Amino acid sequence: MLSDRQLATRTLASALQVAPVTAAARRLSSGRLRVVAYHGVSDPRALVDQIAALRRRYQLVTGDDIARAVATGEKLPPASLWLTFDDGHPDAFAVADLLAEEGVSACMFVCPGTLDTRVPFWWQVVDHAGGAGVIAPGEQTQFSRARLKMLPDPERRAEVAVLEERLRDRLGQPLTVEQATQHDLRRWCEAGHEIGNHTWDHPCLPRCTDPEQRRQLVQAHETLVSWGIAPRFFAYPNGDLGEEAERTAQELGYVASFLFDHRLTRLDESSHRLSRLRLDASASVGRARSIASGAHSAAFGILR
Ligand SMILES: [Zn+2]
Repeated sequence: MLSDRQLATRTLASALQVAPVTAAARRLSSGRLRVVAYHGVSDPRALVDQIAALRRRYQLVTGDDIARAVATGEKLPPASLWLTFDDGHPDAFAVADLLAEEGVSACMFVCPGTLDTRVPFWWQVVDHAGGAGVIAPGEQTQFSRARLKMLPDPERRAEVAVLEERLRDRLGQPLTVEQATQHDLRRWCEAGHEIGNHTWDHPCLPRCTDPEQRRQLVQAHETLVSWGIAPRFFAYPNGDLGEEAERTAQELGYVASFLFDHRLTRLDESSHRLSRLRLDASASVGRARSIASGAHSAAFGILR
């Protein structure tokens, strides 16, 4: 049974998919850049359908276009849209060729601390612990992602380590997950896409000390460079701005850094605080159009 608020949210989300609404929103915001942020790709066909629908209304741009526009102040075409992916999910790397066939050049933001390993991200430990029943009912708030994100970085790591220990006892071995490899990164770049920095292992930057924020960026950067990749874009984990991370990205010569705040953006705003739109790669075409038009973020921004 849906609550009144859930029902209102759904009704509004559907209303925002109506063509006159998305067309009006698109016209009003044609000077803005849309940077779409995906994560995994569970249904490649749904992603291709979204891209086909988006390219009928938007001009798909590349990292080169954005780098040039930032460097020269040259305007991007009206209604420009760039596709990005976060966290380097193996199923997202797997659509490299499919995206290239659709004429897309995308950016994948990766955490080298997990690449080429079977080490889970911290929230994967939390989710598996919940699924395996090693979190007691009375501990669910303590070990919730929302609370863990608020803890100072060393405390979060210590609490996640407790769950890893319990999972190891339950499973008889450490939890492992499939992670992308250096080979996936190479194939991704060969298909005409690029790799961005998403920190070493995806901490919550606002809960890290300044030296840790810096280490997170520099270690990820140097590792990617040692693999023959020259990252020029950075995405804040969870979209949460870390001011020392921002300074570090600037010092490393990055072109731009991206939040995850579900808004359209403008390159003439601070290039290290650019907004992105959240979009699920398996969402319907109607939802993708609504989100890219800006109608969704405008309406839900007002409600927030
Ligand atoms: Zn991420």
